[in-house]
Amino acid sequence: MTDMETVRPNQTPRGVLPDAMERARTHVGVTYKKIVNPQGTYNARAYRSLGVDNSLDMSDFMKTCKVVITLLNKDDCQFDLIGVDAPIANALRRIMLSEVPTMAIEKVFIHDNTSVMHDEMIAHRLGLIPLLVDPRPFQPWKEGEAFNGRNSLRFKLKASCSLLNPRTANANAHAPPEVLYRNSSIFSGSLTYVKEADSPLLDGVTPRPVHDNLLLAKLRPGQSINMECVATKGIGKEHAKWSPVGTAFYRMLPEVTIKQPDLVKGPEAHKLSELCPQKVFDIEEGAAVVARPRDCTMCRECVRGSERAEKVKLERKRNHFLFEVESTGQMPAKSVVLEALGVLIQKCNDVEKALDDAVRRRLGEGEDEVMEAQEQNENAEQGEAVQMEE
Ligand code: SF4
Repeated sequence: MTDMETVRPNQTPRGVLPDAMERARTHVGVTYKKIVNPQGTYNARAYRSLGVDNSLDMSDFMKTCKVVITLLNKDDCQFDLIGVDAPIANALRRIMLSEVPTMAIEKVFIHDNTSVMHDEMIAHRLGLIPLLVDPRPFQPWKEGEAFNGRNSLRFKLKASCSLLNPRTANANAHAPPEVLYRNSSIFSGSLTYVKEADSPLLDGVTPRPVHDNLLLAKLRPGQSINMECVATKGIGKEHAKWSPVGTAFYRMLPEVTIKQPDLVKGPEAHKLSELCPQKVFDIEEGAAVVARPRDCTMCRECVRGSERAEKVKLERKRNHFLFEVESTGQMPAKSVVLEALGVLIQKCNDVEKALDDAVRRRLGEGEDEVMEAQEQNENAEQGEAVQMEE
């Protein structure tokens, strides 16, 4: 191989992308007016003419992919997912929102409802109550199937309103309803779990609403409600009430660069620091420095106008995602992420199996074709032999 072949005119060796192309491959540019190259380049052969293989390399992926947890408590999980492409990060986000199963009230049998709330409205509100129960031991319920302890949870809601003290009611006519009446407000805490004989063991935890103070209806003396609620296992794709998260989102890691540090000094540096609403810039020895790039919300104030745009550069890193997951309380936020990863792995296994089956079928068809051709050849040879004998 000659020098002419190994080194291109811009001095970038073959097999290495020029800086600008590498930057476009790994970063999304942000200017005041537009987002530059947001779609990315995922085609494995995109840079083949430059001798660069852009396909996913499993060993590289295993080396670069990592998760860094930045905040973890019962209801919130924040983590950095590094070294993966946007489709994978987005698949994880979508699975967390809509494919991790939970339990939610699906059927409501109304024996009595004399409140001012319509039956449908109360049933809808009951469905939206997050239930604190591990869904894993339950089987999904199918339409038409009988409810039992293995595919459902049963709750009762029974309450009637009456005067707390009939003798003083008139005297306290302007007192708040809670003072005058018993059961003037029905909250989610009034739901009581009814254990079935074949209910799975739930580690000694009695299923109940995550929050006891969700208002379902208001009653006045003489009004009552008596309902039976059945919770089943489902996923958010079917109805949002089964979604285990209030929100699950990500943003790409912001990168803020001061292009001309020499020009951003003194009053100019202070001006830049003050105009940033997120206080991303600090002043060190009279010059502006990027101190907290993760806090950048890409408001683009620091690149407004050609003068500022020459000094500051905004980008987002294409393979670094800042995830925030907020659980509804049914399961810990960490469990939501782990369950979603499990679903993603299952999907990959399903695709792999489908591909294997397709290849096997194709090979099988190929074998049949070969056998058929062999049979035809043998028949033809036998025919020729018979003709010769004749
Ligand atoms: S884009 Fe907005 S938040 Fe980000 S560094 Fe510039 S001014 Fe600050």
